[in-house]
Amino acid sequence: MPDVRRLTKRLMVAAAAASTLVAAGAVTIAVTTGTASAANTCSAGYVGITFDDGPTGSTGTLLSTLRNNGIRATLFNIGQNVQGNPSAVQAEVAAGMWIGNHSWTHPHLIQESQAQIQSELSQTQNAIRSVTGTAPRLFRPPFGETNGTLKSVESSLGLTEIIWDVDSQDWNGASTSAIVAANARLTNGQIILMHDGIQNTLNAIPQIVAGLNSRNLCAGMISPTTGRAVAPDGAQPPPPTTAPGGGGSCTATMVPGTVFGDRYNTTVNVTGSNTWIVTVTITPPQKISSTWNASVSWDSTGNIMTARPNGSGNSFGFTTMFNGNSSARPRVSCRTS
Ligand code: ZN
Repeated sequence: MPDVRRLTKRLMVAAAAASTLVAAGAVTIAVTTGTASAANTCSAGYVGITFDDGPTGSTGTLLSTLRNNGIRATLFNIGQNVQGNPSAVQAEVAAGMWIGNHSWTHPHLIQESQAQIQSELSQTQNAIRSVTGTAPRLFRPPFGETNGTLKSVESSLGLTEIIWDVDSQDWNGASTSAIVAANARLTNGQIILMHDGIQNTLNAIPQIVAGLNSRNLCAGMISPTTGRAVAPDGAQPPPPTTAPGGGGSCTATMVPGTVFGDRYNTTVNVTGSNTWIVTVTITPPQKISSTWNASVSWDSTGNIMTARPNGSGNSFGFTTMFNGNSSARPRVSCRTS
């Protein structure tokens, strides 16, 4: 048994010494008491960490940040964003996240007819099912606005309505510290509203997780039965701790996309590795103007782009400006890291 009185006396001496030094203006010392930080046992329960409005251009960063900090979240996706970026939704599932429905176009559903509501919700169910293999069980109404018509459509689709207990106000320009503070108010079973695609929110995640750990709270799933945060049920496997399929060889295949008057899109699908490095070479005066679902860098000529995974899966794309040459097409090659 530790000698508590002796320890207390030692700490008092240390504190007195520290305060003497502070008083003298010499130095500032933080006196730390208590035990060393222990593993979070989840003894205080579970909270629901949620991010709305994805997938976005920064979903890959959100997923890697959540993974690096060891937590899982519920992502309420907008159907038309799912349709536009299916590989990001597959990456969400692969990262161990739970997927909810957040309508097709994010309208004020309480101003819409029952038929419009039905279309908004069911289209999104179908899009997510076709991408992930599973239709969501959770629905978050845009703006948290609900009424009886909406609730009846939700229940006809087997959806449980999830609002929130704490609004982080990240959509309203909240600072990183304000977002951290909002998360610190969560108690067992509660749910917080945050959003995909907001930098202050991304910046807050490490401190949010540290705060939960210090309170023995864990990030859980949201129960479709109760609408409350609970322990994960194993219906969806947790994310792998190491990325499978690393190393070895890889193949990059170009798929031509939409051609516009002044530019064209290209998708590159990579197989054989999850740690690929794809080199894309274009013919000047053509120039790549935008990219998605990869992190990219350029050589000094600007004609050779190197693309690596950014957590959005093994498919990425880019837009190339013709700049007067509408016939040339890129060349791609793949290697692994
Ligand atoms: Zn929203």
